[in-house]
Amino acid sequence: MEADRPFTGIITDIQRYSVHDGPGIRTLIFFKGCPLRCRWCQNPETWHVRPELMLYPEGCIGCGLCSASCPAQAACGARTDRDKCRECGLCAQICPSRARKMAGKGYTVEEIVETVKRDKVFYDRTGGGVTLSGGEPVYQSRFAGRLLDTLREQNVHTAIETCGYCSEDTFVQLAGKTDCLLFDIKHMDENEHKKYTGVSNRQILANIRRAGAMCRHIIIRFPLIPGVNDTVTNIEQVCSLAIEVGAREIHLLPFHQAGEEKWRALGRRYSFEGRRLMEEEEIEAVRSLIENKGIPADIGGGGIYKKDIEKREGLD
Ligand code: SF4
Ligand code: SF4
Repeated sequence: MEADRPFTGIITDIQRYSVHDGPGIRTLIFFKGCPLRCRWCQNPETWHVRPELMLYPEGCIGCGLCSASCPAQAACGARTDRDKCRECGLCAQICPSRARKMAGKGYTVEEIVETVKRDKVFYDRTGGGVTLSGGEPVYQSRFAGRLLDTLREQNVHTAIETCGYCSEDTFVQLAGKTDCLLFDIKHMDENEHKKYTGVSNRQILANIRRAGAMCRHIIIRFPLIPGVNDTVTNIEQVCSLAIEVGAREIHLLPFHQAGEEKWRALGRRYSFEGRRLMEEEEIEAVRSLIENKGIPADIGGGGIYKKDIEKREGLD
């Protein structure tokens, strides 16, 4: 019966001990499902809410167990007929070499909280907590809301990393339940935003302005993509937005190619394959441009918090 099924969220990963995604040492909960389709996406396994099969052919040892177990006759060693595949996950469970993996698994709020509580001592010592990331937490807003409520009851500091593409009601509801908002801004120009992410930025900009009126702690996260959003005009507009909404910092996330293999594993074409990486000096120039506007800027996402932890733990 539907009512007897536990209420679960589909999560791709739970990562402990992060210092890059909000204050202090944090546990990151990667939600599955995202309304954007950024062409440079480094986590394409989070796009759809449903669990998805990832295939790494170079790991296959040719044992044939997947073919024998597949109910759809879709699996055949290093190959899968994706038109036939029902993404049931049986082949991934049986594959001895992890050439097959499923992205996404159902968790209850209680299961996540149980994991999170193990690191409470680190959160308390460093001013850390839990960050809901993704994918996009607002895409599973009911589950995200319940998780935030439970963490608040346990006195755990929370943050949401969001692209802000959702209705104002959903946004206000979740933003009101969290202590810190890591708000991703991809592009200030509506047409360019649409071209590279598949959606307009109008609702996103409306939501961050709403956040400015209700959230005390906003950090803007800006993926720095060469040839896409790295013009001086665009960066200056991001700075103006940061000042308008009272963001405390801008975190620059320079483009990298670490997610390339995941596109292949999902059987998707990656249009940013081979795209050049930015030189260190170019990234530093962007940082200076932002700091000259009076806004603290960080490369990589740790910001003032990472420096603070390093100092406290004697790592600097
Ligand atoms: S079960 Fe794994 S290792 Fe065996 S044939 Fe299938 S993909 Fe290859
Ligand atoms: S996920 Fe299921 S249907 Fe798809 S290839 Fe594996 S066993 Fe077959």
